[in-house]
Amino acid sequence: MALKYYSTRDKTLKHDFGQAVVQGLAPDGGLYLPEAIPRFSMDFWNSLRSKTPGEIGFELIRPYTKGVVPDEKLHTITSESFDFAIPIVPLGGSASILELFHGPTLAFKDFGARFLSRVLSHLASKENREIHILAATSGDTGGAVAQGFYQVPGTRVWVLYPKGKVSPIQERQFTTLGGNISALEVDGNFDDCQKLVKQAFSDKDLASKIWITSANSINIARLLPQMVYYAWAWTQLAEVEGPPVFAVPCGNLGNLTAGVLAWRMGLPVKHFIAATNRNDVFPEYLLKGNFTPRASISTISNAMDVGNPSNFERLVALFPEGHQSIQSMISGYRFDDFQTIQAMKVIHHGTGYVSDQHTAVAFAGLQSWQQAHPESKAMVLGTAHPAKFSEVVEKALGASIELPGALKEMASKDKKNISIENDFGSLKQLLLG
Ligand SMILES: *Cc1c(COP(=O)(O)O)cnc(C)c1O
Repeated sequence: MALKYYSTRDKTLKHDFGQAVVQGLAPDGGLYLPEAIPRFSMDFWNSLRSKTPGEIGFELIRPYTKGVVPDEKLHTITSESFDFAIPIVPLGGSASILELFHGPTLAFKDFGARFLSRVLSHLASKENREIHILAATSGDTGGAVAQGFYQVPGTRVWVLYPKGKVSPIQERQFTTLGGNISALEVDGNFDDCQKLVKQAFSDKDLASKIWITSANSINIARLLPQMVYYAWAWTQLAEVEGPPVFAVPCGNLGNLTAGVLAWRMGLPVKHFIAATNRNDVFPEYLLKGNFTPRASISTISNAMDVGNPSNFERLVALFPEGHQSIQSMISGYRFDDFQTIQAMKVIHHGTGYVSDQHTAVAFAGLQSWQQAHPESKAMVLGTAHPAKFSEVVEKALGASIELPGALKEMASKDKKNISIENDFGSLKQLLLG
């Protein structure tokens, strides 16, 4: 029997994995969660010790996709999706950095995007139809989605981005591929891009002619694959080291929610640290118990500039026992830009390690927590390669950063994009080809 998914706003609304993935967001605005969370024994977790990230992904995700994605297919999907290194770099003392940025766009979002693209490709082949993926981006998502879907059969990607408002490196990541990836430069801002995508989803005429979906970050198929690196990290520790602490740099809380889901499945975890920049809605919730979304503030760790974290509903739903149980498992901390730069300097001076500003926020969170828990074995989740944010990192550390090969290669390729007016008619015409 296939597992059912319910909406966080309506427990009676139930769909299978395929429907939940194609819809992304539930029709009532809620987020999909599995009706039952499998719980594995210690024997199971220990059996992962000899496995690759691809194999670990297969074992962890299989219960969630049963009946929709055949095992053999899932095995191919997970081994293709997680085929890059996940190094663990010791920082001295009891902390290490879990480097999640060795995929094609040098950020941890590759885990989710690569898995989602292959799942959608499988669903498209079952229907024998091409599936169009629309993604509005302010920078990072476009690259992860474009690289994730590039040359994936049955998929056609349209990245909408605001003209003149994304960094040159970010723009290269989705404008140099060609093939099934089209980059649409919109004469407007990010909100305009998002509005165009929303209009496309509500246009009945368009829906009757082509099959469209989004690669939104709240998609359940972007969440599940993020459990893989928590489990992988644990398999790399010796048994005597005990359950680790994970320090997570948070924005929309997808990364943290995936860790909590893995823990609910039985993965040994001592504690989670949720670290944010000045956009501190979640640490405030942990402290006071009330959730007060607000407009986001710009910071140097801009991938975390989120004022209304979209995975909040899902995370809370994973703690049915209530607020105290969240507090006992997750500690929240917030840091301003000055403190973030200080943390980058502390890491660099202490060990020579160059971290990006997002990772540094999590490191600062761990330092705060370790004042009361000095012995705990801890992993700081490294979410982006420092070269992706070289302007900030070079200024903070006074050191120059070498571009990794993948980025160098991209910088030399030609940009291909289509300029469109900020007008739904132009978009629709393009989509209908
Ligand atoms: C998206 C992102 C984050 C935040 O992750 P969430 O899952 O949204 O909490 C942190 N760091 C980097 C580099 C990111 O791109």
